[in-house]
Amino acid sequence: MTTLVIAEHDGAQIDPSTLNLLGAASQIGDPVQLLVLGHDCAAVAQAAAALAGVSQVLLADNPQWVTPSAETLARQIEALMPAYDLLVAAHKMLHRGALPRAAARLRAAYLSDVVAIESAHRFVRPMYAGSVLARMETQSAMTLLTLRPTGFAPAVGTQGACPVVDVATVTPDHRSRLENRETMGSDRPDLSRARVVVAAGRGVGAREHMALIEQLADHLGGAVGASRAAVDAGFAPNAIQIGQTGKSVAPDVYLAFGISGAIQHLAGIKDAGFIVAVNKDPDAPIFSIADVGFVGDLFDVLPALTAGLPAAVDTA
Ligand SMILES: Cc1cc2nc3c(=O)[nH]c(=O)nc-3n(C[C@H](O)[C@H](O)[C@H](O)COP(=O)(O)OP(=O)(O)OC[C@H]3O[C@@H](n4cnc5c(N)ncnc54)[C@H](O)[C@@H]3O)c2cc1C
Repeated sequence: MTTLVIAEHDGAQIDPSTLNLLGAASQIGDPVQLLVLGHDCAAVAQAAAALAGVSQVLLADNPQWVTPSAETLARQIEALMPAYDLLVAAHKMLHRGALPRAAARLRAAYLSDVVAIESAHRFVRPMYAGSVLARMETQSAMTLLTLRPTGFAPAVGTQGACPVVDVATVTPDHRSRLENRETMGSDRPDLSRARVVVAAGRGVGAREHMALIEQLADHLGGAVGASRAAVDAGFAPNAIQIGQTGKSVAPDVYLAFGISGAIQHLAGIKDAGFIVAVNKDPDAPIFSIADVGFVGDLFDVLPALTAGLPAAVDTA
């Protein structure tokens, strides 16, 4: 049978996470097709067709995909899926709304936040905020899954372009509507892909103290993240929350300042390479998973690190 992957792109370029999705899908060993949903994005479809391992690109070109609703995407998936036995999509809000709806209508299995693929029917996903990894086996002939792109090696290479086929866009479902999107203007790297993340917890104490976190992040060419407690306290915007109900990050180095290390926060940093924690409480749980821990006041440690660390981290 054939696996269908929903491509991630910004309307002009393929997002690198698409390569991770393809890398994951290729582990099954079946032919892989790519679905490009967008408007005026024929160039994206052509670029997708040249990605190694893609046997066909489906292009659904329609203005409605600029601000899609989960209900409409569910309809589109329902229309396409009978030709496939596995759908792979990034674990993001839109897909988390659309795939369960489509799975219910298709009587297919749905699994979310998959971090490993063992076969076409066996998958691994975290449960209880990442405290356990569960191996799930699906019994259904059709499986729809969202997965964590950072958990999979990207597909590499290009090929002579495969066919690009136009597919009919379904009638939109207007029961919910995306009103607008606000992009946070920032020169910092994208949090989900940054190689260095400097994160603030409730311990930073005030919004104005975030400047110390931002200075270190900028010095290291990294992104800024925050715990939910820091977001709830108004120190940082919701868009940079890391954890079970926020973003998952996979940097080479994760620096946590004034973060206690609740399991819901740790769920989002499972794939971090090297963890540095600074906390004035020597019994803070974050020290049990940190590679390096400083017991101390973050207001002493942060300026010292910004002054003392070389600013030569390559984030390309
Ligand atoms: C369903 C659910 C989902 C959740 N999802 C998330 C999520 O996605 N992300 C998330 O982060 N949390 C999440 N939480 C909340 C989580 O349980 C914790 O409450 C939260 O992570 C705590 O954030 P914190 O570590 O910043 O704050 P705290 O637990 O209050 O810790 C603050 C730390 O700062 C230290 N500190 C204070 N002052 C200083 C100083 N001057 N110098 C150094 N250290 C200092 C303290 O010793 C303490 O360890 C969720 C909870 C639930 C129930």
